[in-house]
Order: sequence, then C-alpha cells, then structure tokens
Amino acid sequence: MKRVAALYICTGQYLRLWPEFLASAEKYLLKQCEIHYFVFTDADHLEGEEENPRVHRIYQEPQPWPYTTLKRFEIFLRCEQELQTFDYIYFFNANCEFTQPITEAMFLPRAEKRERMVFVLHPAFYWRPNYEFTYDRNPRCKAFIPMGLGRDYVCGGINGGEAKAYLKFCRLLNKRINQDLEKGIIALWHDESHINWYAFTHPKYRLLDASFCYFEGWKTKKPCYILIRAKERYFDVDTFKKDPPKTTLSPRLERYNHFMMRVSRYLQRRMPWLPRRERE
Ligand code: UDP
Repeated sequence: MKRVAALYICTGQYLRLWPEFLASAEKYLLKQCEIHYFVFTDADHLEGEEENPRVHRIYQEPQPWPYTTLKRFEIFLRCEQELQTFDYIYFFNANCEFTQPITEAMFLPRAEKRERMVFVLHPAFYWRPNYEFTYDRNPRCKAFIPMGLGRDYVCGGINGGEAKAYLKFCRLLNKRINQDLEKGIIALWHDESHINWYAFTHPKYRLLDASFCYFEGWKTKKPCYILIRAKERYFDVDTFKKDPPKTTLSPRLERYNHFMMRVSRYLQRRMPWLPRRERE
C-alpha cells in the first residue's frame, strides 16, 4: 500500500477549517493509500487526533500574514526525516474540502510519463493568456517570470509529488524565499509566485485541471473534486490580512511591465495557433 503524507498548516483562526478537511479526506482522498496528516498548528488539540493515529500534530508558532504561508517550506522541512519515509507528499490549503472520490490514477504523478510533481491550474486563471497571469514581475525577485512567458498559472493551495522530488522542491524554494527576504523582497503572491516559478522552470509535472481546486460558489460544468471553502464563513480574513508587508515596484518598472504586457498581447493575438484553454 502506498504511503502518502498530507501536509496541512492551521495556525490561529485557520484551526476552524480542520474538522471538515479531515472528515472529507478520510471519506474521499486516495482511499487505496495510507494517508498520514502532518498538521502544523499552535493549537494544543486537534479534532480526531485521539481516534486517528495517522494525525500528527506538530507545534507551529503563529506568525503575522503572510509569513506562515510564505515560510511554509521551512515549516515542512522541520519534518524532513519523517517525510522521507513516504512514497508521496501533498500539501493542502487549510480550506480544502474533498467532495468526491479521488483515486491514485486521478491524482498521483505518472512515473511512466516521467512525472515527479503535481500542480493544479488556478481556477481564476486557467483560460487566460499568460500576460494576465499574476506571476511576480520584479526582476530582482527570485520568483520573477518575464511578461509573455509561461504556460500555466498554478495554484499555491494544492501541490504534491513523489517524496524525494517534493522535498527537493521544498529545499529549493525555501532557499530562494530566504534569499529574497535577505534583500527585503516578498514575491507578489508569496509561496504561490515561487511555486509558479518552479513550475515554469521545471515543466515536466502532472498538471491537474481546476476541478481539483474550485472556489466555493463558483459555477462550473465540470465535476469538482476539491472545493476551496470560503474562509469568510469561518473567520474575518481582513482583520489580519490588511496592510501586509509587500514589495512595491518602481514607477519605471511598472511602466516597463505595462509596455511588455501590450507587446505580449499584440504578439499572442497574431499567433492563433498557440494552444489555448477554454473557460468551462
Ligand atoms: N495559514 C495559517 N495561518 C495563518 C495564515 C495562513 O495556517 O494565519 C495557512 C493555511 O494553511 C492557509 C495557507 O496558509 O490555507 C494560505 O493562506 P490563505 O489560504 O489565507 O491564502 P490565500 O487563500 O489568500 O491564498
């Protein structure tokens, strides 16, 4: 039986999202595999931890926004030795909820296709041209992707892979995020910008469509396997996300990016043969 580590962070108010995550994962997620939940939290108790020996609570100091999500790779690497013993490792945002059975064939990287990692298309971007992707556009940032390049905009909330490949990915992004922080730089969408840089520079991953990451309340004709619950139902996000530290681009760089966006749009409109995705 394959062993899978599910990484989950819930500090502060995010703890409220845990019970439905666990219940839905136990019902639908990779039922053929043995799943262990590595839960990084400041809570002194987790629902289900007494009954379920596969729930492992690891103390994590709460940090101001956006550091918990930005420093996630450093958080995971604290358990590197234990994680190495698994076949696969997946991370899930705290507000994920599984709504239908997810099998190995649907979700794991396919070794026969030389896939080691799995990323999921972001539900707000999959049909858009790449100059509309919110990649980081600051050339000094380690997550920078030039305007006009990039095939996919993947979400930061769900990703995974073979354990060895996933830990390598964590080590690399952790190093690059720290290099940014030493220079006082924070990527536009934190971990998500760095994950997109990784996908851009390591394109041989399994790409899952947005059915595996769909926002609650959004309409889709496709089946939804992982619902991204509206956090507002659980707590007031604005109380701790307002005025976050962020890197502002110089007006000159903003003007340059705008110019390059128009160039990319012009060129891509004149290349109708480029592959495009339709909005479902
Ligand atoms: N997170 C957390 N505590 C916090 C902030 C974030 O545990 O105070 C974790 C949690 O796992 C969450 C993830 O970081 O799912 C990403 O944060 P969030 O979902 O708010 O990001 P967004 O949806 O805005 O991308």
